[in-house]
Amino acid sequence: MWLERGVALKGPGLLFVVSGPSGAGKDTVVDALRERVPRVRYSVSATTRKPRPGEREGEAYFFVTRSDFEAMATRGEFLETKKYNGNLYGTPRSFVERTLSDGYDVIMKPEVNGALAIKRGFQAAVLVFLLPDKFSYLHQRLTERRTESAEEIAARLAIAHTELASIRHFDYVLINEQAPLEQRGSLPAVDDLEAIIHAERFRIHHYKDDYIRNVEES
Ligand code: 5GP
Repeated sequence: MWLERGVALKGPGLLFVVSGPSGAGKDTVVDALRERVPRVRYSVSATTRKPRPGEREGEAYFFVTRSDFEAMATRGEFLETKKYNGNLYGTPRSFVERTLSDGYDVIMKPEVNGALAIKRGFQAAVLVFLLPDKFSYLHQRLTERRTESAEEIAARLAIAHTELASIRHFDYVLINEQAPLEQRGSLPAVDDLEAIIHAERFRIHHYKDDYIRNVEES
């Protein structure tokens, strides 16, 4: 069932924040979700990190210089910013605020501190922690994707341990199971994330009283 905003549901769109340690599979899971549920709009972050091969401007990130990033931050253009492993990352404010107030759902994938900062600003945000089924897989995945040096991988793993300490502040935990080689491509975590997004829409406080009254009177 797809309930139209304006008819049955009230208020702004829903904000889904998918976080968890680097290497847990946030990019893969969120990208797959976006293909499957295109009505959920993706919030593109800004970063001072250099693009990896295949990453496109305005799609993966807005790639900016450090001085541009700092100027944007001074102008209050970010909902939150974080220095992560030597680079700056930030969630642009205007896209998120405008999209939610237009009634569209938004999804983003900041690191864990960013997720907690978003929750402080948007109490209604739904926080999802993506966890690998074994922590040792983080190392394996970061190594396999060949985009970071050994030092960078070690730094990301150290950060991952500190991030795990915040897991109880999240609303949901998704286990991103390492699929056997022959099943790579099927991701149970994507089905689970879709289920969360779907279920959140049916929460009673999203329904207009009018809608329920009209059902009663019809
Ligand atoms: P990567 O360099 O691998 O793309 O991202 C490094 C980390 O920064 C990841 O955990 C990613 O989720 C996080 N990240 C990406 N964009 C943002 C953002 O706008 N804010 C915060 N706080 N973290 C972000």
